[in-house]
Amino acid sequence: MHFRDTAEEAAFRAEARAFLEAHATPRTGTDADWSRDASAADPATQAEFVRRCRAWAATLYDAGWAGITWPRAYGGRGGTPAQSVIFSQEAAAYDVTLGFVGAAQQLVGPPLLRFGSDAQRERFLRPLLRGDEMWCQLFSEPGAGSDLAALSTRAVPDGDGWRVSGQKVWTSGAQHADFGILLARTDPERPKHKGITFFIVDMRSDGVEVRPLVQATGLAHFNEVFLTDVAVRSDAVVGDVHGGWAPARATLASEAGMIGGAGQSSGYDAVLAAVRAAGRTDDPLVRQELARVWTHQRLLEFLRYRMQSAILAGRRPEVDPSVLKNLFVAALAHRVETALDATGAAGMLDGIDAVDGGFWQRQVTGQFASRIGGGTTEVHRTMIGERALGLPAEPRTDKDVPWVATVR
Ligand SMILES: Cc1cc2nc3c(=O)[nH]c(=O)nc-3n(C[C@H](O)[C@H](O)[C@H](O)COP(=O)(O)OP(=O)(O)OC[C@H]3O[C@@H](n4cnc5c(N)ncnc54)[C@H](O)[C@@H]3O)c2cc1C
Repeated sequence: MHFRDTAEEAAFRAEARAFLEAHATPRTGTDADWSRDASAADPATQAEFVRRCRAWAATLYDAGWAGITWPRAYGGRGGTPAQSVIFSQEAAAYDVTLGFVGAAQQLVGPPLLRFGSDAQRERFLRPLLRGDEMWCQLFSEPGAGSDLAALSTRAVPDGDGWRVSGQKVWTSGAQHADFGILLARTDPERPKHKGITFFIVDMRSDGVEVRPLVQATGLAHFNEVFLTDVAVRSDAVVGDVHGGWAPARATLASEAGMIGGAGQSSGYDAVLAAVRAAGRTDDPLVRQELARVWTHQRLLEFLRYRMQSAILAGRRPEVDPSVLKNLFVAALAHRVETALDATGAAGMLDGIDAVDGGFWQRQVTGQFASRIGGGTTEVHRTMIGERALGLPAEPRTDKDVPWVATVR
């Protein structure tokens, strides 16, 4: 979809296109694109992928194209949601991605911009935008995923700061991270949402141990992180002590929207390239599915734009992030299966015989990560029911009792 650009937006689009032409090469939609290597299992390819993501972040930052809607005071462009959408539309035609760096910007930016101290924003936002420092999200635990507020990692006061102990899991990119945003329980006597504090943790601290977890795709995308008496300074608290649920919600809303926006490397153009390579563009049934892929993509762009506009204007989003997330995963499942189906029986081949280097197989296997990460489809359906449709809330018997009473 192209919005009807205003004169200023048309000028912005032309400027963005000129920048991209000068600094990136067109996306081919084939295995020749480095931006498709996010799912590559081979460690050397992964390392090169991370390096190129960081290099692209630096290129954007140095040329004034990073954080299009972020304030200029913190290295952003101070632009509009429409400009952000326009830039994404134009960038989609090029072999570029921010990968883990982009994810970190979406997870860490909103809570720091809204709840962080001036010193935290000054210290962390520019290196985050430029990809000079990598981040991870230390929220989920073995006993706290969908019910995140049940978390049991503890932070206890220690002199002027805190000591943190506990276990996190599914921590994407922790093996590359310099810092993590961490939720820890600071008052077990309060109800579960009210005794949590949001911290910034230096991942090189003593007592932080990162253990990679290998997924069905062969890639170690996420990790277990063990924290043993990790020292955290008092100025690493984001927002209020015991008030960490508010910045956590800023992260979670942005995360759902982010996952709803991901997947460029398997977008319409890539699906079309796979169908062409398989010689199936004349097949009326395949053409019908291609039309659906294209329609989903445009619909998601439109919904993202509506949501981002509302958030930046300080309004309640007309589009719930949960709606966007669930539509995105449905569209993702459809398009990756369309591409793999088009390759026919050859799509079952593995190793050096695999079609497109196994890219579409990895997308089909990897789609489940998007269904779970950032909140599962079922949990987002509950949120849509309660927040968007006003249906009666699920019974939550542990909401107003001290957390400690729920674990006895
Ligand atoms: C690729 C990927 C990356 C991730 N990255 C990170 C990260 O960087 N940092 C981080 O902190 N976490 C991360 N996560 C963790 C993710 O947020 C959790 O996996 C997710 O919230 C689900 O939690 P869980 O795995 O504990 O499943 P559970 O909460 O145990 O859910 C198990 C099943 O029960 C269902 N269920 C649970 N509650 C309800 C309910 N109330 N109603 C109906 N059904 C329900 C769920 O839908 C699911 O099917 C990542 C996960 C994935 C897959």
